[in-house]
Amino acid sequence: MTVPMEIDLRILQEIQEYDKEIYLLQETLAEIPSELAEITHQVEAGRNRLKGLQEEFKNAQLKQKQKEGELATKEENVRKYETQLTQVKTNKEYASLQGEITSLKADNSLLEEAIINLIDQVEAVQKQVEEQKKKLEMGEAALKQKKQELEAKSNEIRQKVDSLAKQKKEKIKEVNPEIASLYERIVEKKRGVALVKVEGEVCPACQIQLRPQVVNEIKMKEAIIICDNCSRILYSE
Ligand SMILES: [Zn+2]
Repeated sequence: MTVPMEIDLRILQEIQEYDKEIYLLQETLAEIPSELAEITHQVEAGRNRLKGLQEEFKNAQLKQKQKEGELATKEENVRKYETQLTQVKTNKEYASLQGEITSLKADNSLLEEAIINLIDQVEAVQKQVEEQKKKLEMGEAALKQKKQELEAKSNEIRQKVDSLAKQKKEKIKEVNPEIASLYERIVEKKRGVALVKVEGEVCPACQIQLRPQVVNEIKMKEAIIICDNCSRILYSE
């Protein structure tokens, strides 16, 4: 005498293997966008850093030009006063102009020092800009490559899932339609695992202790036995 559920349960085991793989592949597929987002974010951060450095470079250059302009004006004043010096009539005027010139020259030597520091700063930031540009180019190239890789990987996974789904669809036709639709509902709800093999007295999926009567019913294979706790289909060899 054939046990009514035995054949269906055996086919369901095969189908369950397809579903396990399908769900696993779909999970991998679902992780791809976040993997890509992370790398994109890193490149974006690099781009912002470059922008910041370029801004810093422009500001330092601007400051340098301002100081150079200031120095040029003051040097011009020194020359003007020095010319006036040859034309003054009184000692007092002479001393006053001389004082002005000395003070301007002191200012100018401070300005010169500041300009030298700014030139160093401009050069240092320029070097950083160049380095960051290179880094960004590398990051962008890596991102492009990764995108292509992940796209190829996605396509491959999708093809595999399609092929597995087709095989499963064919196979499930061999199962009693009511049982098949029950299985499909559970597999969807339980994200890929609808059928579990009981070896002792607990449900291997949720670890709940099964009643002796349930364990016996599973062994008899006369009906589909569902775990009271996790609602998966239970079977035994
Ligand atoms: Zn369970």
